[in-house]
Amino acid sequence: MYDVLVVGAGPTGSYVASRLAAAGRKVVVFEQNHRIGKATCCTGIVGKDCFDAFPVCSTAVLREARSARFFAPSGRCLRVEAATTQAYILDRLALDAALARSAQEQGAEYWLGSRVTDIVAADDSIHARVAVNGRSLNVRAKTAVIACGFGSRLSRNLGLGAHGDFAMGAQSQVETNGTQEVEVYFGSRTAPGFFAWVVPTSDNRALAGLLSRQHTGARLRCFLRSLVEQGKVASCQATISFGGVPLEPAHRTSGHRVLLVGDAAGQVKPTTGGGIYYGLLSAQVAADTLEEALRRNDFTATALARYDRGWRAMLSAELKAGRRARWFFERLNDRQIEWLFETAESRRIPERLAQSPDFCFDRHGRVIRRGARLLGLEGILGLLWSFVRNLPLNQVERGKLRPAAP
Ligand SMILES: Cc1cc2nc3c(=O)[nH]c(=O)nc-3n(C[C@H](O)[C@H](O)[C@H](O)COP(=O)(O)OP(=O)(O)OC[C@H]3O[C@@H](n4cnc5c(N)ncnc54)[C@H](O)[C@@H]3O)c2cc1C
Repeated sequence: MYDVLVVGAGPTGSYVASRLAAAGRKVVVFEQNHRIGKATCCTGIVGKDCFDAFPVCSTAVLREARSARFFAPSGRCLRVEAATTQAYILDRLALDAALARSAQEQGAEYWLGSRVTDIVAADDSIHARVAVNGRSLNVRAKTAVIACGFGSRLSRNLGLGAHGDFAMGAQSQVETNGTQEVEVYFGSRTAPGFFAWVVPTSDNRALAGLLSRQHTGARLRCFLRSLVEQGKVASCQATISFGGVPLEPAHRTSGHRVLLVGDAAGQVKPTTGGGIYYGLLSAQVAADTLEEALRRNDFTATALARYDRGWRAMLSAELKAGRRARWFFERLNDRQIEWLFETAESRRIPERLAQSPDFCFDRHGRVIRRGARLLGLEGILGLLWSFVRNLPLNQVERGKLRPAAP
């Protein structure tokens, strides 16, 4: 009988495991892949806040970023540069491996190549069925942490609900002709309602990807072709990996003897799809809640609801602001995005924003509010008017806004 059973050795699962094992708890982590971090589809950008709060990030840094170039649908470019490093590009495989190593050093047991196929929260314990090397094992624990990322059936089977809104991400590793800055591309032809990116990981390699609700793979291939035509990328013959991105949190993230953490709980920035920081912050709350539950030997839904309240108190306002911004952005057409770029350039909004104390890679609510203030009343009214006037012409076809597999 384990104290805690963790499903998934991604950053959030390993972080919870590490904290609880360090407190002397008997922890087991099941990971379906044979190698930690190997199959992850992630660009690995985290902000300075995340980097400072979780020192383990420093073991996986590929590059630092303090500037970025944003491209409008027409190709117009806006460059933003801050005085100091704002974000870090991490090697996701190295991050996941470092977190797992730390948990193992604290005494957590890791089972790789072990897929949890079912979990039942009984009155007296958690019963998990685990598929290992063609065999099926039954494992018992006092409590379970579901940290298995986006789209698993396990949380639904436990009555904690399925994901609401989500998008698909696709990404490839590409050879560049020396791109040194993060590049972000907007427009209905590239990534309607979302954005595409090129993130340099070394002097001549980068991760190129995009988020979208539909045709994610085809869109990425198209984006890669355009990068080749512009001479930014050497070839578009790249392997594409895919991942789902939750855009809203699960309605319930705790229940009798179980917690959902990370992407499984939808703890992701709705603006960019970044989930490492919010997932790790929530994993801290999860570990504290479970430690308290183990001390009191109380695993009721009421006792564990402290986790749900805790992480929501910390992140709800940000997630709400992000969702509002996402709702608005998805309804802008290319002309309106161009107009925003033009206005931002003429009012020097990027420079002013970069110098403002509100500028923060991880807290977009503050940046959005500051950006709106810099846009001014006249600018906002202009945008709202064009928004209302153009609504029926919006190039994001509203009937097609439902997510679909790539
Ligand atoms: C294209 C793309 C780019 C992204 N870029 C960024 C970025 O730059 N910055 C950022 O912050 N976020 C980014 N994200 C999001 C980020 O990858 C996730 O938020 C993060 O990985 C969530 O961590 P997690 O631990 O919750 O889940 P995951 O990292 O998904 O880990 C879950 C683990 O559980 C395992 N697992 C699943 N089911 C089972 C099972 N039944 N049994 C056993 N093991 C199981 C999986 O194999 C996996 O190892 C990106 C996402 C995508 C799709």
